[in-house]
Amino acid sequence: MDQSHEILRLVKQAQSLVITSHKSPDGDSIGSSLALFHLFHKWNKSVKVVHPDPAPAFLHWIKGQEAIIDFETKEEEAKTALESADLIFCLDYNEPSRVGEAMVAVLTETKAVKVMIDHHLHPADFCQAVISDTSASSTCELIYKWIKAIARLSDLDENSCTAIYLGIMTDTGSFRFPSVSAFTHEAIGDLIRRGVKHFLIHEAVYDTNTVDRIKLRGFALSEKLVCLNDLHVAYAALSEEELNRFHYQKGDTEGLVNQILGIQGIKMAVLFMEKGGNVKISFRSKGDYFVNELAKMHFNGGGHAYASGGISDESLEKTVEKFVTFVKDFIPEV
Ligand code: 5GP
Ligand code: MN
Repeated sequence: MDQSHEILRLVKQAQSLVITSHKSPDGDSIGSSLALFHLFHKWNKSVKVVHPDPAPAFLHWIKGQEAIIDFETKEEEAKTALESADLIFCLDYNEPSRVGEAMVAVLTETKAVKVMIDHHLHPADFCQAVISDTSASSTCELIYKWIKAIARLSDLDENSCTAIYLGIMTDTGSFRFPSVSAFTHEAIGDLIRRGVKHFLIHEAVYDTNTVDRIKLRGFALSEKLVCLNDLHVAYAALSEEELNRFHYQKGDTEGLVNQILGIQGIKMAVLFMEKGGNVKISFRSKGDYFVNELAKMHFNGGGHAYASGGISDESLEKTVEKFVTFVKDFIPEV
């Protein structure tokens, strides 16, 4: 049996489904989770969504978000759900560690059958059924493709369609990255035909800034930007004190690193953020710069060729200093 129909068979057979995704939720992890949540509800399945941590404010508007059980603030409920599941969906991540230290133990110890639907490189072997396509724009595109393959598109209600649109939109930078294909646009066209109010989704995600959020981004760009023009690299580093000054909330810097990549001549953009004793690093690139290698080699991370992340447990200054050293070796032609 092909994987699409095998996954349908597993869903039909399951009594208790749980949908999981990676730490630091984004539009694609929330979108793919809720698309299936609404669909499985329609199929009268018992289904819960368990995520490692809460969603950022700019994703709170989506229907079903309030039902997500996050491991960080509702650990007992999340554990019970995971332990009593007989089928677990692993969406938008390629290895168990991506759910974070707290949740990974529960996830790996459960006896539930696991299904992976994901578009990250190098999928680890921990799921019994797998749809992994690293050329896909987003996990939401793969969710749409799966539902099409099993001939259940007519079961998608407006909530599911909106969730799928959200994930494709956010993971493609609003349909502009090389990962966007004719199929991506065909899927989007079909979702609009099924009732998605695309303009409202763009507005809800991109036009709901707080003043602090706008000011933090302005501060980062005007005061903290460093351009290594010879290397075609630009970065900004924000300390915890600076983030606090603008009452930083999760999601406030979303997309900021992409803005840095928008500088003429820049092929790699990096954002460093000091948080709770660690430094979280976001990498974006284009052309022949593949940031996932840099993230993996030096910053305990990974991701896609042009969009990766990592973490450092050294100070912000030391982390940036190391990055500047590593990046010189990383770009050998300069
Ligand atoms: P972001 O910069 O938006 O936090 O992350 C961009 C992408 O990098 C994510 O979609 C994910 O694929 C990857 N990524 C971020 N953080 C990590 C990490 O700590 N480990 C790995 N393997 N990938 C990461
Ligand atoms: Mn994704």
